[in-house]
Amino acid sequence: MTGRLSRNRLFDVAPVRKIIHVDMDAFYTSVEQRDRPELRGKPVVVGGSPEGRGVVASASYEARRFGIRSAMSARRAIRVCPNLIFVRPDFARYKEVSRQIRSIFLDVTDLVEPLSLDEAYLEVTTNKLLERLATKIAQHIRARIRDELHLTASAGVGPNKFIAKIASDLKKPDGLVVIPPEKVFDFVGSLPVEKLWGVGPATAQRLHSRGIQKAGDIRQFPINQMEHWFGRFGRFLHQLSHGIDDRPVSPDRVAKSRGAETTFAQDVRDKNQLTATLKDLSLEVSESLQRLERLARTIVLKVRYSDFTTLTRSRTTGEKLQSAESILAVALSLIENTEAGRRPVRLVGISATGLWDPTQPSTEDDSQQLQLNF
Ligand SMILES: [Mg+2]
Repeated sequence: MTGRLSRNRLFDVAPVRKIIHVDMDAFYTSVEQRDRPELRGKPVVVGGSPEGRGVVASASYEARRFGIRSAMSARRAIRVCPNLIFVRPDFARYKEVSRQIRSIFLDVTDLVEPLSLDEAYLEVTTNKLLERLATKIAQHIRARIRDELHLTASAGVGPNKFIAKIASDLKKPDGLVVIPPEKVFDFVGSLPVEKLWGVGPATAQRLHSRGIQKAGDIRQFPINQMEHWFGRFGRFLHQLSHGIDDRPVSPDRVAKSRGAETTFAQDVRDKNQLTATLKDLSLEVSESLQRLERLARTIVLKVRYSDFTTLTRSRTTGEKLQSAESILAVALSLIENTEAGRRPVRLVGISATGLWDPTQPSTEDDSQQLQLNF
């Protein structure tokens, strides 16, 4: 390429990032099948027993052929596949393998953001291998996992986290999919909106009701329209629909909370408007919890008055929350303990903390209950 256009681009465009999303294939069951040869080639699930109220935490690909998926009740799983083999989870071992995988990642880059025991983002724009092609780096990582750990991983390569994550899922198991920057726009345009980061069933429904089925459909609306409909999240969706996702890869970040907030264009006194905003925020928080597969023990409400005084109110409920309705109910009770409505409000926010992963044993009080369920 020669000429002014290509030269100008060098100055106009930030360097393209190279992100890899690595996702182990059927992680818990693959570890079990690796370590116990009698389980190989058989439908296996790791999880609770069908006699109890247990659920499937991980299903082998042989079991998936029967339609068995994680989070399915063990009872239902055994009904669709009577020969199904149940294995009790050994999280200490999975954690150990996860640590070994992590050390392979860290040989490549320090910018590793784990999402769970078996999944991580890696930023490899610059890397310890001094390799320019992210595709080669992904191949290298997959080969090391296969050769050293005797497990398979799928990987997605793209210019941002959103693209890399979708790509890693396209050719599972043992697949590698690369979406180069010049293909991103078309690739994203054809995705159903359900694939967009943070879009759960409720938001998908609201998008469908406006005639938006595919991510590309979002592009026909101006960003301000999307923001009017969906708040701050609408702006993000608009960016995603163009394949833009600036979220950094944050090393060692463990999901400790999920939150959303809205700053009003004009300070608000009207309680109905505050309630409507809290409803939107609850929906947003609920969907990111669903996406993260976490439940929350504590809901925190943040209120900033027009004079910038900021306060938070929080409540830890006995039950673990994920639905928008349950989050909203707590937020509405918390806002009663503020002067919102009497004093003009500039910003409200809701966050969910004390996150609980239903597939992991907890070091906290609920570990016993989880053991019982398994
Ligand atoms: Mg996985």
